[in-house]
Amino acid sequence: MLTIGCHLSSAKGYTAMGEAALSIGADTFAFFTRNPRGGSIRALDPDDVAGLTATLSSCGFGPLVAHVPYTYNACSAKDRAREFAHEAMAEDLRRLEALPGNYYNFHPGAHVGQGLERGIELIVETLTEVMFEGQRTTVLLETMSGKGTEVGGRFEELATIIDRVSSASPALSGRLGVCLDTCHVHDAGYDLIHDLDGVLAEFDRIVGLDRLRAIHINDSKNPCGAAKDWHARIGEGYLGSKELGGGIAVFQRIVSHPALRDLPFILETPHDDLAGYAREIELLRGLAG
Ligand code: FE
Ligand code: FE
Ligand code: ZN
Repeated sequence: MLTIGCHLSSAKGYTAMGEAALSIGADTFAFFTRNPRGGSIRALDPDDVAGLTATLSSCGFGPLVAHVPYTYNACSAKDRAREFAHEAMAEDLRRLEALPGNYYNFHPGAHVGQGLERGIELIVETLTEVMFEGQRTTVLLETMSGKGTEVGGRFEELATIIDRVSSASPALSGRLGVCLDTCHVHDAGYDLIHDLDGVLAEFDRIVGLDRLRAIHINDSKNPCGAAKDWHARIGEGYLGSKELGGGIAVFQRIVSHPALRDLPFILETPHDDLAGYAREIELLRGLAG
């Protein structure tokens, strides 16, 4: 059966996220490790974590996909902003040891005019500093849409980051992976509509499918190659809507693909309430067969 869930609010704590996931038929979920706007963070409540751990094991959840606040830029041109990203990520990784075996999903960052090479250098520096030998969380670099000066719009960029961190600190290599976002990859110019197999073969050649650990399953409000990063509901964007040139079969091929179907799928589609996610989870489980 498909392992699928959506991004949930962490405002009410860990136990509450497990309950919210169950209420919509999910068996994984994503959450921000901290408030994207603010820096400080509440101390971990061991009872709250234990409440979630009990739900995860008794209800057969797949791995969770924690998300770094998107406001952090590990390759900012400003020292203070980079230090902030370092401190927060290092603290998050220590805290995630309370929930071992899950994923920590991160946007490589935006080089803000310093150039791709300098951006990659700073991201590699960040990862080698914040990750630690023996950590039980796997860090996932997200495939990006390529908007602005974003790093990670091409598979080659992710492969370079992974290779450099791995050669600088071989002990960290096994704790690095990729989260593929269907909206981002489509926006970056990879043709998921007509050539899913070709895109995955390219990923395999450049990064290696063994590095692919999670999928963000989103439709896109823009055509392939638009580099916009505007998410749409499943079936209402260019990937899933017939009128726009795609179709629901595009999502059927994604959720049933042998290279993807056993990975955790996370919805980041725009909905005002959990009922919208419950419907999409049901739809995609049905498509997966
Ligand atoms: Fe993301
Ligand atoms: Fe995403
Ligand atoms: Zn996005």
